[in-house]
Amino acid sequence: MLVLEYKVKGKQQQYRAIDEAIRTTQFIRNKAIRYWIDAPREAKINRIALNNYSTALRKEFKFVKELNSMACQAATERAWSAIDRFYGNCKSKKPGKKEFPRFQKDNRSVEYKTSGWSLHPTKRRITFTDDKGISEVRLLGKWDIHTYPVKSIKRVRLVRKADGYYCQFAVDIEVKPESRTADGELGLDVGLEFFYSDSNGHHEENPRFFRKAEKAIKHTQRQIYKKEKGKNQRRIARLRYAKKHLRVSRQRNEHALRIARNVCKLNSLVAYEALNVKGMVKNHCLAKSINDVAWTLFRRWLEYFAIKFGTTVVAVNPRMTSQKCSDCGAIVKKSLSTRTHKCACGCQLQRDVNAAINILNLGKQARDGQSRSNATGVATSTLLGASLVEQVATANVESPGFTNK
Ligand SMILES: [Zn+2]
Repeated sequence: MLVLEYKVKGKQQQYRAIDEAIRTTQFIRNKAIRYWIDAPREAKINRIALNNYSTALRKEFKFVKELNSMACQAATERAWSAIDRFYGNCKSKKPGKKEFPRFQKDNRSVEYKTSGWSLHPTKRRITFTDDKGISEVRLLGKWDIHTYPVKSIKRVRLVRKADGYYCQFAVDIEVKPESRTADGELGLDVGLEFFYSDSNGHHEENPRFFRKAEKAIKHTQRQIYKKEKGKNQRRIARLRYAKKHLRVSRQRNEHALRIARNVCKLNSLVAYEALNVKGMVKNHCLAKSINDVAWTLFRRWLEYFAIKFGTTVVAVNPRMTSQKCSDCGAIVKKSLSTRTHKCACGCQLQRDVNAAINILNLGKQARDGQSRSNATGVATSTLLGASLVEQVATANVESPGFTNK
């Protein structure tokens, strides 16, 4: 799925109509969760039962009926995906919280499927044809949605963000291939000092805005809590924070996209560490957490450009990659503060470069070996999450179907 995003331009009253549709979506989703909770155990509520429930809600509430029927179904599907995730967590005996479906208070989007909207045949306009009263709005953005057949548009989503309303189209198309300009092979090591170090000895600097922006965000965040609850000033502080946050996530995304594109364009094989990002996010070290966010984005774009350029992207187990000598294979113990790898065999490298070479070697093994499960494309669908959409201002890929927000 390719997601094209446009800024929506309309009248105040149309924005209010979008808000109303978003509220209705949340209402339906929460009602469906309640329905599931209250149902007797033998009722076995599933996706279809929830879909039927959305029909019942349409009969009961006028404002639900005003929303396109497939959009209502999309709302109960959100409930279902929360329930399904919970069931999945219980089944797999996931340690810790099982994420029991919660009632949502902060929904920011409404999702249409293949009906309830129509594109203006020539200009960049879209009309919402249900009874929510959004009607025709203008679409601002670089992309031309008309280059894709209307049939390939599987979802249309209206999203409220800090700086206005956006319309996202999920387009079911193949990613257009481009040719590579070189056939290099590259191993990437994530560090604290640099964004990454590669097996050719190059260190990609962390862009300055990472740290600076993070500080600014923390500052605006603190400002919120200094203002009295319920006061207008607090609302303004909150808005300021949201805007800053949005700007930074876009910068971050642009950065990740640019670097991932370059890497895939120049290499036929790219190997990187498969990091347990979920476990790492809890890290309290600021620099580390910034890098984690940036790296998650970067890896997603790697997978995307891997398809575009026909590059094989392999995630390898990073175990021992920093201790092992990339030349002779001996284990050379070093603490985090040891910046140079010095081996008895005479090999001397910057520690991250040594690790990157090890990662590349593991990547080659994985590529040449029988297990090709991580090769191009295969890992894509699992790696691309919906959170990316929130970060992206232009275009991106994501797993089929949107998730809750
Ligand atoms: Zn050695």
